[in-house]
Amino acid sequence: MDCGIPEYEGRRVTSQGAAGHLTVDLDALARNYQRLSAEVAPARAAGVVKADAYGLGAERVATRLYAQGCRLFFVAQYIEGKRLRPALPSDAQIFVLNGLQPGSELAAAQDGIVPVVNSFEQLQRWSDTANAVGRRLLAVLQFDTGMSRLGIPPEERTPVAGLLNAAHSIEILFIMSHLASADEAQTGQNRDQLAEMSRIAGEFPELAVSFANSGGIFLGGAYHGALVRPGIALYGGAPTAGAPNPMEPVVSLEVAVVQTRTVPSGTKVGYGGTHITTDETHLATISVGYADGFLRSLSGRGAVYCDGVRLPVVGRVSMDSTTIDISSLPEGRLKLGSLVEVLGPHQTIDDLARDAGTISYEILTGLGDRFERRYRGAPRSTVTG
Ligand SMILES: *Cc1c(COP(=O)(O)O)cnc(C)c1O
Repeated sequence: MDCGIPEYEGRRVTSQGAAGHLTVDLDALARNYQRLSAEVAPARAAGVVKADAYGLGAERVATRLYAQGCRLFFVAQYIEGKRLRPALPSDAQIFVLNGLQPGSELAAAQDGIVPVVNSFEQLQRWSDTANAVGRRLLAVLQFDTGMSRLGIPPEERTPVAGLLNAAHSIEILFIMSHLASADEAQTGQNRDQLAEMSRIAGEFPELAVSFANSGGIFLGGAYHGALVRPGIALYGGAPTAGAPNPMEPVVSLEVAVVQTRTVPSGTKVGYGGTHITTDETHLATISVGYADGFLRSLSGRGAVYCDGVRLPVVGRVSMDSTTIDISSLPEGRLKLGSLVEVLGPHQTIDDLARDAGTISYEILTGLGDRFERRYRGAPRSTVTG
């Protein structure tokens, strides 16, 4: 054991030339999926695997979710769906949240990727594509209920309904919308959006509804509809701000010490000399920087851990390295090649996000590719032949 994370792998990190190792616990992911599925039953839970499953590896994550019974997957861009498609069996459906860019419809139809249609124009183009390929095509309709980001705006509802009635080229699987403030349980915006969604659902009584993301799941049954779309909660992020996190952490990250030194009082540390020691100080420089997603906003405020001891960042975070104060550890505890905990039992993605002035989503999606990645609990491939 090194700094509190089981299965010390310092040697493996070194032999790979990696900056550290990032462990993705697919068993914890699977338990989070089951936890969310139980929370919303009889509604179903999809898996949101956009942005390479929030940086954790879309193929591995989706394959494991499939093994847990997940059949519906959301990506943001068509290219993500195209890449993921061969990894999943044919009964898995992949939905593209941003819809299709003009010119990619035919390829998407051939790949069997299902667009989330966000406007009348997208619906028209998808309908034309169906006519061109000579078969009905599947789609999901997203409505804007008050976020003004994606989705059919109020003034397009009637034309959309008209086109669907006139043309039978498109089969709508369900309708959806997205909450702007789902992580804030008390805000009135959630209730306003729910009321708007209920009105829209009344206009399409035969269609199932998908509404809640991670935060929405914990707003209660009224928000569940038939299908929920968790992302961050699957990956261990707190679904509700300021409330205890019911999810299990999925990611841990340890990085290697590159150098240690002892400096006298009055010594400048890092770019710009922004930190000046006020005592004799033991320092260690670790191989993680803003290019690895250890954000520069952690300069002078973030920390890493060893043996449960908080080791504060001193001075500015560099691109490839960061200097920490290790004076509170026994002398010689950390040396070249030792590992320290960036994410693990003592620091969650939400803790690091708070110190960096951001959200767990940005921490996860920013994790770089200079770590040796290890997957715990990977299933055998579900695709044969
Ligand atoms: C990203 C996204 C989700 C997942 O959100 P989380 O907060 O990570 O659960 C669900 N629906 C839509 C439309 C999204 O863009």
